Amino acid sequence: IMGIDHLRDPRLNKGLAFTLEERQALGIHGLQPARYKSQEEQLELCRISVLRYQEDLNKYLYLTELHDRNEKLFFRLLSENVELLMPIVYTPTVGLACQKFGLIYRRPRGLFITINDRGHCYDVIKNWPESDVRAIVVTDGERILGLGDLGACGMGIPVGKLALYTALAGIKPHLCLPITLDVGTNNQNLLEDPLYVGLRQKRITGAEYDEFIDEFMEAVVKRYGQNTLIQFEDFGNHNAFRFLDKFRHRYCTFNDDIQGTASVAVAGLLASKRLTNKKISDHNFLFFGAGEAAIGIADLTVKAMQQEGLTVREARDKIWMFDIDGLLAQDRPEGRLEGHKAFYAKNHAPEKSLINLVQEIKPSVMIGASACGGAFTPEVLKAMASFNDKPVVFALSNPTHKAECTADDCYKYTEGRAIFTSGSPFGEINYNGKIFRPGQGNNAYIFPGVALGVLLTGIHHISEELFLIAAQCVADTVTDENLSYGSLYPPLSTIRECSLYIASKICQHAYDKGIASVYPEPVDKKAFIQGNLYNFNYESSLPNSWSWPKAPEVKT
Ligand code: NAP
Ligand code: MN
Repeated sequence: IMGIDHLRDPRLNKGLAFTLEERQALGIHGLQPARYKSQEEQLELCRISVLRYQEDLNKYLYLTELHDRNEKLFFRLLSENVELLMPIVYTPTVGLACQKFGLIYRRPRGLFITINDRGHCYDVIKNWPESDVRAIVVTDGERILGLGDLGACGMGIPVGKLALYTALAGIKPHLCLPITLDVGTNNQNLLEDPLYVGLRQKRITGAEYDEFIDEFMEAVVKRYGQNTLIQFEDFGNHNAFRFLDKFRHRYCTFNDDIQGTASVAVAGLLASKRLTNKKISDHNFLFFGAGEAAIGIADLTVKAMQQEGLTVREARDKIWMFDIDGLLAQDRPEGRLEGHKAFYAKNHAPEKSLINLVQEIKPSVMIGASACGGAFTPEVLKAMASFNDKPVVFALSNPTHKAECTADDCYKYTEGRAIFTSGSPFGEINYNGKIFRPGQGNNAYIFPGVALGVLLTGIHHISEELFLIAAQCVADTVTDENLSYGSLYPPLSTIRECSLYIASKICQHAYDKGIASVYPEPVDKKAFIQGNLYNFNYESSLPNSWSWPKAPEVKT
């Protein structure tokens, strides 16, 4: 590298934080104004700059530009301002950025592999300039957040998720690779949009698609090794479950929409025990929705009940589920109880009315993950309050207008007795003078810490148990004060500690169970984790130098 690269390469750039000595030694003296600034002074300027923008999309663009200019400054800013900036870099604003991807596209970030490259996945991956990638987040853009098929514009999601790997769990950025598999899009608006940057064709499906995904997985392993962590993100429902089942015992992989969501929801359930004084297995569950999120949560809830001593059958019997056709009942027509739905089907007459079923089975927990806004009507909420002292209500659908009920309505129709959690933030609620600050079941509590634990120990396959451990860690982090405001989650400002706690527990578990492949086992696990984290602070740009002892004089 040349001296000038220290200004051009975002990984080396420190802006005005280069000292006089560094500027002179690197040959960049005079290329910047005289002033020296510390990283702290730069951070303050960044905060002011972000806040100057009125529109969230412009804040997003400012942060993207910072990421491209000065990597350490970007990550330190994000990691120290999680509450302010996570909603920009991640949901909800990242959704808008994906929708406008063609318009705002400036510089490449991440890898695009298209269906036209089939047979050459490896060649494309070889073009990525980093030699030591350890973690990949991959999407095919078919179901971006709650926004549907965004094709190649979905790239914002892997980019945003991996930014959180670094900001929230200290995973080094050069180890991370965002990938979009462009297999076309069925979004007619995009196909007709002159600004669309992906392949202008319908989605490839069937055997051709499956073979392409297989080839991709093999190419990743060939290039970066068997132990590369591959996080699946925002695939369509059908593919998400299929690939999880197919790949979980062959690769180091998980699906955040299914398993990350499950973990954060179960964390909320575990935390709620301190408010209800009930075990998970004391509850009667009604899920509204039976998709990636709901089935994931139900499956992990079953695992949690098994730990409490129930059999799988007993646990599944306690979970009732609704999908678009109503209650999951055993005598449904062929093909309407696909996949894991069958586990939860009840021997019960068809029932399409939610309120009727609520009245009949009297659930103590209701979990909405249907993207069906307002489904938990005042009538449903009142019913829940009529037979529960403290009804547990999770309205997880995003964005805000898709939530099954609002926080206000939930407290209002349950006389302030509900234990409420949502997918989108609702802020502070005042119910008859009592202040509630309900928590947000955000997957970001889970996936960065799980990824860190897996990477540092070299776990080969990611079991459900890891997500149960992560859930327990998040629940443990919730304080009595958080609970007193009705929050089942720790504040977002403490999410970094949460990630490290998850990683340390997973690390311990990995060595206890003999599933770690990193050798030797570190004696001090905490110190081991700390020693492997990204350094958010600037380091010297000068080579190390040292002096030698004075040489003995040579007699002549
Ligand atoms: P999905 O796989 O498409 O599942 C949606 C489910 O809801 C399906 O089972 C669907 O029924 C059912 N459904 C749709 N409309 C319904 C209606 N009117 N009545 C009853 N059921 C209905 O989607 P997903 O990935 O699970 O996501 C669902 C929602 O959860 C989204 O809004 C998403 O933003 C949210 N989510 C939140 C979090 C979080 O808070 N951390 C995480 C992940 C997802 P069929 O099976 O019959 O189609
Ligand atoms: Mn997702």
